[in-house]
This record gives sequence, structure tokens and C-alpha cells, in this order.
Amino acid sequence: IRNLAPYSSARMEANGGKVLLNANENPWPPHGDDGQHLNRYPDPQPVELVEKLAAIYGVTAAQTLVGRGSDEFIDLLTRAFCRAGKDGIVISPPTFGMYAVCARIQNARVREVPLRAEQDFSLDIDALLKAVTTTTRLVYVCTPNNPTGGVVGLKEIEYIATALKDRAVLIVDEAYGEFSSEASAASLLAQHDNLVVLRTLSKAFALAGARIGVALAAPEIIDLLRRIMAPYPLPATSVNAALKVLSSEAISEMHQRVGLLCAERDRLLVAFAALPVVKKVWPSEANFLCLQFADAQLVYRTLLAQGIVLRNVSHYPGLADCLRISIGRSLENQRVLAALSALTEVV
Ligand code: PLP
Repeated sequence: IRNLAPYSSARMEANGGKVLLNANENPWPPHGDDGQHLNRYPDPQPVELVEKLAAIYGVTAAQTLVGRGSDEFIDLLTRAFCRAGKDGIVISPPTFGMYAVCARIQNARVREVPLRAEQDFSLDIDALLKAVTTTTRLVYVCTPNNPTGGVVGLKEIEYIATALKDRAVLIVDEAYGEFSSEASAASLLAQHDNLVVLRTLSKAFALAGARIGVALAAPEIIDLLRRIMAPYPLPATSVNAALKVLSSEAISEMHQRVGLLCAERDRLLVAFAALPVVKKVWPSEANFLCLQFADAQLVYRTLLAQGIVLRNVSHYPGLADCLRISIGRSLENQRVLAALSALTEVV
């Protein structure tokens, strides 16, 4: 266990008055530093960022951990809770691929409880709970779910967390939470110490390139994850970018843009559904739509040749011939719509 004293030589340097000869750093800032003190190691957990995020999600700083995207937390949670060859996780496919990828890297078992394809891919809660055994450590619920866009209500999350008490940790991945009208499961953390809520600044906050993920959980779980994290998970440049997007002005701009994207998503849902080439489109509370075609490969390749890149999700169980379309700017969305409309005679 490393000594994780919350000091930062970058912060000490910014405050001035210290002779910093303790970390084998370069005394001079690099070319083009712009006052960021990038010659100094950053905070292991940047206090100001952690406190801001805790306030936004309505939890305490002790319940908050920042890392390299929610991807890092999926990996850390698997390593913290699953013994190789012994323990396992439960997931509901089609869902985000990293849960199973991290489990397999750790040689943990993966039990799959499919979403109900006949009911717009809703979560089969009874089947999910029945799949939990004495060796299950983690149960994942992704809401809104990637790649289907469906949500699980707060009451259902609470029911699952209660049912899993003393049995397994429930991980609620809310990467697309800002695009949904459902309340965050973070409000349940005070009552449920077997709950982890994952948030990210990659989507609504437009910071995918900075790699900032947030884990919200009981302080005991946060401590556990912190002990197995890399010493300095977040580059100072990313922390600085995150602090900028969390100013009140930036947050109201984010909400405006989320509103625009949601309006575009709902407009496109109707427009896509009316196209003969589209066999099915599912309602979504995220910043993407999942569409089914007669021949997804052909649609994918035809649009790619026009410079329009979609995500082929046909390999997911239940999503044969499906493509996922992220909601872009209006003009980009219009191009997709026009390209799909023109396909009517081809496919
Ligand atoms: N969780 C879900 C459901 C996602 O779709 C993604 C990325 O697409 C992630 C987590 C990873 O997000 P991050 O950029 O924070 O690592």
C-alpha cells in the first residue's frame, strides 16, 4: 500500500515560497507551459476537482474518485473484487463491451442475462438476480444502455441494490446519464454500501480526449480502488480541462448542448423510422440511436464510402444487422439522413 498523502508539488509551486527538491522533478517548466507547472507531478487525487464533482453528484468527497475515464474504473473494480479463476460478474448483453473484456483479462467468469429483445431491450431483473451465485462479485447495469439506449428506473436500481446486499456489488454505469430524464443512482449511495455509480466527462461534457472518469461509492470501496490505482492517474492538463468544463457557465452551456442533441435524437428517431430502408429503430435516452437494416454491412460500407462513419454493432447478441448512429451536429445528422434516404432503392 503506497503512501497516498494528498500533496501536490504543482500546487505547492503555484502557491510559491517552497524549495521543491523532493520528487526528482525538473526545476524549469517545459517550453509552452502557460503557467500549468507541468514540470511538477500532479495531485494523485486533485482536491478541487474531486470536491466539485462530489458537489455536482450530491455526495461527499470521500465517496468520490477520479480516474482515466470510466474504463479505468471498470478495470479496477474487476481487479479489486474478482479473484482469477474463482469469481465472476453478471452482465446483460447487448451492453458495453468493457465489462466482459476486463473480466476475461482477469480470468473472471462472465454470466450473461440477455436484455429482453421483445420488450425494447428492457432489463430482466428477475433473471439477473437469479444468475447471481455465491461467487458473483460484480453485477453491471448500464443505464442508458450502450448500444440500445434504454434506461433502468431509479426504483428498479434500488430494488436490485437491496436484493444484492451482502452478496455482490452493483455497478451502475451512467456514462450517458446527462442525456436521460432518469435521476442518477448517486442519490442511493447513502443507503447502499454495495453500490458503485460510474460517471464520465467524456460524453455530455465533451472531454473524451482528456480521459476523466468518476467513481461514486461508499468510502470503503473508494479506498480499495485508490490503493490499486496508478500513482498519478490524471495528467495535469486533463485536470485543468476538467475544471474549466465544471464552471457554472460551462455547465449551463453543456446543458444547452445536451438539449440540442436530445432534440436532434428525438427528431431523427421519427425520421429514421419513416425510412423504408430502416427495419427498426429503438427509443433512446442517450446520444445515439440503434437502427436495424436488412443488410447492415451494405449500409455501413455504402455510407463509409461517402465519408460517414457509423458503428457496426451487428456482432452483439440480439442486434443482427444493426448499426449505432451517434447524434452529431444538425448538418452531420442531415447528411446521414439524406444518405439513408437515398439508399431506399439499393437495399
Ligand atoms: N461506459 C459506457 C456505457 C460507455 O459507452 C463508455 C464509452 O463509450 C464508457 C463507459 C467509457 O467511458 P470513458 O471515456 O469515461 O472511459
